[in-house]
Amino acid sequence: MTEEPEREIPVARQIVKRYENRSSSTYKSEDKLLEWDTSEFKRRKTVAVDNIGGAHQPVVIQSAPEILNNSALKQFGFREVGERWLPRNIHADYLYCAVDGGADTWPEDLGLIIKPERFATVCTKNAAATVLLTMQEYRSVEIPNDAVIFLQITPDEIPACIEEIPAEAILVLSSQEQYPLHRLRSAILELIHHNSRNPVVIKLDYHQLTDSEFLIAASIDLGALLLEGLCDGVWVDPPGEFALELIFSLLQATRTRITKTDFISCPSCGRTLFDLQETSAYIRARTAHLKGLKIAIMGCIVNGPGEMADADYGYVGSGRGRISLYRGKTIVKKNIKTEGAVDELVELIRQDGNWKEPENNFVNSDNRGAV
Ligand code: SF4
Repeated sequence: MTEEPEREIPVARQIVKRYENRSSSTYKSEDKLLEWDTSEFKRRKTVAVDNIGGAHQPVVIQSAPEILNNSALKQFGFREVGERWLPRNIHADYLYCAVDGGADTWPEDLGLIIKPERFATVCTKNAAATVLLTMQEYRSVEIPNDAVIFLQITPDEIPACIEEIPAEAILVLSSQEQYPLHRLRSAILELIHHNSRNPVVIKLDYHQLTDSEFLIAASIDLGALLLEGLCDGVWVDPPGEFALELIFSLLQATRTRITKTDFISCPSCGRTLFDLQETSAYIRARTAHLKGLKIAIMGCIVNGPGEMADADYGYVGSGRGRISLYRGKTIVKKNIKTEGAVDELVELIRQDGNWKEPENNFVNSDNRGAV
């Protein structure tokens, strides 16, 4: 949030544009929302199935292309090292392979979701295999009892099917609506109302949108559900690196899954006596790989320390050409020159044992971490 406020106007315009043609009749009131207090974060209680739900962080699922060869795996956040696949900083947790699934070696950290007709053959070769069923398939297809089941369901199906849903199925709640948020939320509240503990993965398709429309729509639809603690996983299409970056940024911004450094910054004002944007960019470039660390960059010593919340470290302007460094709320370097101050910040992090060298392949395309 260090940019000039007028740079937020195009984003605000895009948000308004998304709703320009929405008829008020599509909005459904949500009496059940009253049963879910959103004034503070709490996560819906679910059972853990495999690594989804319970206390697990929300997972990220992507759809694989029809032919999934080794090079295609790279777009899902994996790199090939010898005969193994290693996960990069952000990577898909599961791939849905509707047709193929035939990469020569399969990454250890990647689950595989397939259609029921391929389950018997694939699961003998790949222990990570799980199955995606519609409600109709669940009723008619035989699947081993110990198989992990993803059950694809729509909000409309929930009232009629709720008693039939097996206790340990992961629900893949999908909607084709242009504005799906309220319907998805109502469906999950319906589950809560019936004491369902099934984990819920939200599946949405933004194929028809441009990248910037995709960004705005996914942030609204998924950001709200993540902030309300109603979602155990996210599956968006179209898949690929853009979607992967976007979803992990949303998870970071909602603090539901931390994969980058968290940066806290003031908007700057007349009290700021250094170039906050330039300095923030430089600090981000040096420290964006320190996953989970919170670093505040504040314009002045008058209000900065009070506004940097629960930051682990603070870089705070304290006069013309001077800054002070904080560890938590404690000042540890007072009024040092700005030249070399970022090196001192790095040294402080190092002394505390919180520094690590960036990997060459560190994936953070904009070098920004999360702000
Ligand atoms: S922290 Fe200081 S410089 Fe930053 S906006 Fe607040 S008063 Fe202005």
